[in-house]
Amino acid sequence: MSVPGEPGSGARGGGDRGQRHIRSSRRATLDELTAEPADLLVIGGGITGAAIARDAAMRGWRTVLVDRGDLASGTSSRSSRLVHGGLRYLEQGRLGLVFEALRERRTLLRIAPHLVRPLDFVFPVHDGDRVPLWKLAGGVALYNLLARFRNVGRHRILGKRGALALEPMLRERGLRGAVRYADAQCDDARLVIATARSAVEHGARVASHLMVRGLTRRDGRISGADVEDRLSGARGTIAARIVVNASGPWVDQLRRLEDPTATPLLRLTRGVHVMVARDRIGHNDAIAFLSPLDGRVMFVLPWGDLSYIGTTDTDDGDPPDRVRASGDDLVYLLRSANARFPGAHLTEDDVRVTWAGLRPLLAGHGDGAAASSVSREHAIVEGSAGMITVAGGKLTTCRSMAADAVDRVSARLGERRPRPPTDTEPLPGGETAEFDPFRRRGAELGLPAAVVDHLVALYGTEAAGIYNLGMADRSLFELLHPAHRAIEAEVLHAVRRELAQTVEDVLVRRIHLYYETRDRGARAAGRVAELLGRELGWDAERIAEEARKYRDFVAAEPRTV
Ligand SMILES: Cc1cc2nc3c(=O)[nH]c(=O)nc-3n(C[C@H](O)[C@H](O)[C@H](O)COP(=O)(O)OP(=O)(O)OC[C@H]3O[C@@H](n4cnc5c(N)ncnc54)[C@H](O)[C@@H]3O)c2cc1C
Repeated sequence: MSVPGEPGSGARGGGDRGQRHIRSSRRATLDELTAEPADLLVIGGGITGAAIARDAAMRGWRTVLVDRGDLASGTSSRSSRLVHGGLRYLEQGRLGLVFEALRERRTLLRIAPHLVRPLDFVFPVHDGDRVPLWKLAGGVALYNLLARFRNVGRHRILGKRGALALEPMLRERGLRGAVRYADAQCDDARLVIATARSAVEHGARVASHLMVRGLTRRDGRISGADVEDRLSGARGTIAARIVVNASGPWVDQLRRLEDPTATPLLRLTRGVHVMVARDRIGHNDAIAFLSPLDGRVMFVLPWGDLSYIGTTDTDDGDPPDRVRASGDDLVYLLRSANARFPGAHLTEDDVRVTWAGLRPLLAGHGDGAAASSVSREHAIVEGSAGMITVAGGKLTTCRSMAADAVDRVSARLGERRPRPPTDTEPLPGGETAEFDPFRRRGAELGLPAAVVDHLVALYGTEAAGIYNLGMADRSLFELLHPAHRAIEAEVLHAVRRELAQTVEDVLVRRIHLYYETRDRGARAAGRVAELLGRELGWDAERIAEEARKYRDFVAAEPRTV
């Protein structure tokens, strides 16, 4: 494969597969969205809404997708970042769910190889653990069987010595052995953005920072939504033949706009992660383990030089906008990890950043059951005035869930269009898993290997587009932050092609400095605002204001997003 080296980064459509890395995705304007009715309006730009918009646009439906904040600003950027069948669902006997998720794991590895990557796990078992080694080994064997042998790696059962050879920092006392198996990890926010961009390539119009304030009706049926642009304050009405509510933890709020007496569909549980320096724990592979505090399955997962520990699972009664990690959450996570890695001695001072999300779990499955045993399957429900709500699910199963939802929408639109090839068409940047030519090209351009690895991991084949920006203006190869590998060209890419509109959009969900630097990217805020301002026509005052907003956001949320 050759990597085009010519400068030039302007907007061009898809079509020529050889040139796909230079295609553009622009945020749709309010004027465009209100000019003519859509076939469907999807509310919510998390993974569910993005996958529905992609599927619908690929079937040729005129599709609009809106989100009140940035794409992926809800639960979809606060996950455990795993694309997995979910070993714990085996315990609950949910074989169908595991089977589907493992099939989808394979699909996502194929269509987004830069964003979804195989990951080796070690699952140690200690004396007193709720699940003995033989049972865990049987479970992993069944897991692999359900993947129909299309595994991302083979599993092995290890004795105590074998487990310690792989993970010397594990607690030795009481260690019975471990199972080693493979699953996959993803960049959750970027998976959403890539999915939404694929929708745009197929004709969908996508607008972030556009909030649905009310629903409109014709003859008693939902006929669109009143929206507000939260960046400009402008308001308008988007007309649509069908409205799909894919607003994750907010679905019941939206359902109440349709019918104030609607029964809640969801039971929201809070999941928290904490990020610490990886060498504080000293693990090699990803670690799955049973918390000695309550027997729940937990993870210690690698993220470059960092590791994140998750997750909690507790009922949360706060409005979704206000979900935050509590002190108890941190204590639980750190104590659980310390019990398995006694040399770590993690304290709250080690926590670089935390994130908290609400699982949009379906209510009615096991009320009164512990939160971790509530179903993760999805539901598609038509409200009394015709709005279709899609609730539940996981990142991993977004594509199949979207296919079900669009089947339903198509039936309501009066034409059952066949399912499009969402499982074989690559997401932007994922046209090949052979990234060496892109690495070589970066090296030829004189970029440090660490920068090149970072660009290929985030952008896949679209790293070529970033190179082109830097070749046109070498200053764009400069680092954005002294402690991070991101370069300035990525900001232009984020605003031109990835629908970023604010400094937070860039630093939290596009290039992750929020999670990956000690000052949560604050030092880069000024430069990011300048680069964004250049593209979006901001004057000096607005640039300073946008940078300040980001620093205020970091200061107000010292460790939690
Ligand atoms: C802690 C945790 C860990 C998880 N780990 C995993 C994992 O490892 N693997 C996995 O597969 N799944 C995981 N999940 C599940 C997965 O993250 C969720 O199922 C999925 O992200 C839900 O996506 P969604 O699009 O339905 O909701 P969201 O991502 O929350 O998207 C809904 C969107 O709707 C928007 N919205 C709300 N109201 C309005 C309005 N009025 N107007 C416009 N827009 C609106 C919001 O801004 C939001 O962006 C995890 C979940 C949690 C909480």
